[in-house]
Amino acid sequence: MSTVETTYAGSFIAGAQHRNAGDSLEVVNPADGRRFAEVAAASAADVDAAVQAAHKAQRTWSELAVSKRGEILGRAAHHVEEHLDELIPLLTREQGKTLRDSKIEITKAIDTLMHYVGLSKSLRGAHTPNLDPGVEGYVLRRPLGVVGAIVPWNFPTTLLANKLAPALVAGNAVVAKPAATTPLTTLRFAELLAEGGLPEGVFNVVTGQGSVAGEALVTHEKIRKIAFTGSTPVGERIMAQAARGTKRVTLELGGSDPMIICDDADLAAASSAASMGRFYNCGQACLAIKRVYVFESVADEMIESVVAKAKRLKVGRGDADGTQMGPMHTEAQRAEVAGQVSRSVDAGGDLRTGGGPPEDADLADGFFYAPTVVTDPPHDSAMAVEEVFGPALPIWRVKDLDEAIERANASQFGLGSSVWTRDLKRAREAATRIEAGYTWINSRTKVYDELPFGGWKSSGYGKEHGEEAFDFYTETKSVVLGAS
Ligand code: NAD
Repeated sequence: MSTVETTYAGSFIAGAQHRNAGDSLEVVNPADGRRFAEVAAASAADVDAAVQAAHKAQRTWSELAVSKRGEILGRAAHHVEEHLDELIPLLTREQGKTLRDSKIEITKAIDTLMHYVGLSKSLRGAHTPNLDPGVEGYVLRRPLGVVGAIVPWNFPTTLLANKLAPALVAGNAVVAKPAATTPLTTLRFAELLAEGGLPEGVFNVVTGQGSVAGEALVTHEKIRKIAFTGSTPVGERIMAQAARGTKRVTLELGGSDPMIICDDADLAAASSAASMGRFYNCGQACLAIKRVYVFESVADEMIESVVAKAKRLKVGRGDADGTQMGPMHTEAQRAEVAGQVSRSVDAGGDLRTGGGPPEDADLADGFFYAPTVVTDPPHDSAMAVEEVFGPALPIWRVKDLDEAIERANASQFGLGSSVWTRDLKRAREAATRIEAGYTWINSRTKVYDELPFGGWKSSGYGKEHGEEAFDFYTETKSVVLGAS
């Protein structure tokens, strides 16, 4: 029998814990299947309380100088940083990832906050001095108002920070909803930002199910924009609901990122990037190597190298020493990936390693799935056409760059992509022709705050990161100053 050690009030509204009216959400440790916390879920009335608090706080916040908002956010972010040792094990416990990856994630979230703090000092606008004799024009940028931020469970803090930082620096207030299975780190993150000086009501968190708290946020009349990261079907539903009231949306959705490995690639570097890109965070990342297309002449060497790396990976509890890959996040997620692998193998793919839970009896109660490699499943099989959100990598042999690009683009998704070649002409051609929001050339799939990021096709709409993110948290107005 599992025991609940802690009960949390549920939401964080106007700078204080708020007791939700909804049913309890169970928080389960993916490493052993044990429920260790309960959090009451937000009802529509709780969501309304959060949005009203944000609405009340937003005007004063927006009237501060932009550099002052940056300064306040920067101080609050430093306070979060001082509590890394508390946040890291909490994230590992509720999400499952290794302690090392929790540290990388939360540090990255703080870096993103600080990146926009830095930009708050240098934001400038457009000015045209001579529209007509004595008439000048400038472009005014205004915040949207209250922004709803809806985030999944794979990177609860970075995916939140990507929204929170540009939204707050631009003068908006935010109500965030974490995934129902990972509420704890987000609640503590919000509490720490408030302790660090972020004014009450500027950032609020409501916990709960997507169908209740999420929908209440999306449809609330005072919400001006929804910044969503999650699956494509839910993103499409949100886009349709946001049409009422002409709300703004940014949608960071599913992906099935192709990696192309040419015959002149640095194979050692490419196979490390494939392994890292697929098995990092137990394969539960939007940007991840999800399909590999390798030139026939180097395919055997490449496949052997990736399979050997997959076999060597140390799978274990996220909080155990030496673990390189933790459990999957939920039993349902594991079952989904297991089904995609077995259907693709049944259809003709060659299972080279993995394909089920690891044999270690100590891991039997957790949601573990062994690093898996399947070669040449049919191009219409589940691993080719669906998003595989777990540690299972399909690899196909292709004859040349044309075939590789054609296969890469034969997907509903267009999030990330990568190409490995020493030939600049090939690299440029791939970067131009691949339909995706990012192309890495001879580089692992790392997201930089400096560069805008967002999917094409069913992978989403709008950009996060970069100065471009501000465009999605502001309205612009052209102002004309007449001569008299
Ligand atoms: P999901 O769409 O099921 O849930 C994401 C969030 O939306 C959760 O907070 C959930 O509670 C909420 N939600 C669910 N239904 C809702 C509704 N009807 N109205 C409002 N909110 C609702 O996604 P998931 O399965 O938890 O996350 C994995 C997916 O996220 C994958 O497809 C992955 O590729 C995608 N993802 C994309 C990016 C990106 O940047 N493009 C990053 C990470 C994850």
